[in-house]
Amino acid sequence: MVNPLFIPGPTNIPERLRLAMARSAWDHRGPRFAQLIIPLRERLRSVFGSRQAEMAFFTGSGTAGWEVALTNVLSPGDQVLATRHGMFSQRWIDLARRLGLEVQVIDAPWGEGIPADRLAEVLRGDCQQRIRAVLAVHNETATGVTSDIAAVRRALDAASHAGLLMVDGVSSIASLPFRMDDWGVDIAVAGSQKGFMLPTGLAIVAVSPRARAAAADHTGPRGYLDLSAMLEALEAGSYPYTPAVGLLDALDESLAMLHEEGLEAVYARHAHIAAGVRAAVGAWGLELCARRPALASDTVTAIRVPEGFSADAVVQRAQTRYGMSFGIGLGQLADRVFRIGHLGQMSEAMALAGIATAEMALLDLGFPITAGSGVAAAQRQYRQTESIMPRRQ
Ligand code: PLP
Repeated sequence: MVNPLFIPGPTNIPERLRLAMARSAWDHRGPRFAQLIIPLRERLRSVFGSRQAEMAFFTGSGTAGWEVALTNVLSPGDQVLATRHGMFSQRWIDLARRLGLEVQVIDAPWGEGIPADRLAEVLRGDCQQRIRAVLAVHNETATGVTSDIAAVRRALDAASHAGLLMVDGVSSIASLPFRMDDWGVDIAVAGSQKGFMLPTGLAIVAVSPRARAAAADHTGPRGYLDLSAMLEALEAGSYPYTPAVGLLDALDESLAMLHEEGLEAVYARHAHIAAGVRAAVGAWGLELCARRPALASDTVTAIRVPEGFSADAVVQRAQTRYGMSFGIGLGQLADRVFRIGHLGQMSEAMALAGIATAEMALLDLGFPITAGSGVAAAQRQYRQTESIMPRRQ
């Protein structure tokens, strides 16, 4: 038996998607590719909360999606504005700097969300509109914090600023509500291995009409990650090079699963599962990394351990003794937090298995918690609600 994963991606792969990937290879130059890709792009839009975005798929991980955003509309020397409030916002900034962009960074404590008021201040001060883009991580997987992207849009609008809004939705899209059109997002990046419940391998990038026009006007050198070439090919029902057809087949099936459950139901399920995990953490007397309840992510929970305890030891104990994987702390949170990922295919029963295992690991390591307390708190939370989970046959 395979143990469920509780890392915040790659996530558990449902049997239905494993079977979708088990199909024989097929000719991507034949008519089947267009038959797959044209409706697939259409169905994907709603997951991004957009009616108008153009959808692109690059063979690569989420990081490739970051690079698509940065290299197709910006040139070395261009200014971008970013906030750093966790390891993934940090890594996106690092990548931008490696690509020669001038990144102005607003730091916030890890555990906070994007400080939209400080962004607004900087944008207001940028009278010459030299900032070409704002980079925002919707869900900081390292800290378990979800930020308010609508507030980032308001900061741009309040300053009448024309900078492009680029959003990392790698650990939110397909699990948390994402409203690309309403929030005025220009480029949104997702990865196949999180809410889409697939293996790593597809960087999924949604592009607003404005960003598409900017990419078309862009004269800088582009290679494998050329967005305009990708969009033109996809619109013609083809692909600029060999596509990962197995993953695209499985993405099609993943969209079928998401739409069968209903996107609002998917979001409600994630909120429900996360509430049980947070109830367990509260019962253990431990603290979330997220500094306020409103910031706590519904896809990943980062849990601080008290001074004198090792978070890495919890992850290691769970892995070596119980065969279950939790996420380690990253960057400045190394050994200070462990993370429970609860996104993608996740039910109450699966979450309870993870909570029970974390609880055993904590007890084994001498954490001052009451045996059974976390499981009981999660059970209480889950039993309060009858209707959230999809009906089982
Ligand atoms: N952004 C976020 C929020 C992530 O959680 C991750 C990976 O976990 C990435 C970007 C990087 O994606 P990848 O590791 O697929 O390149």
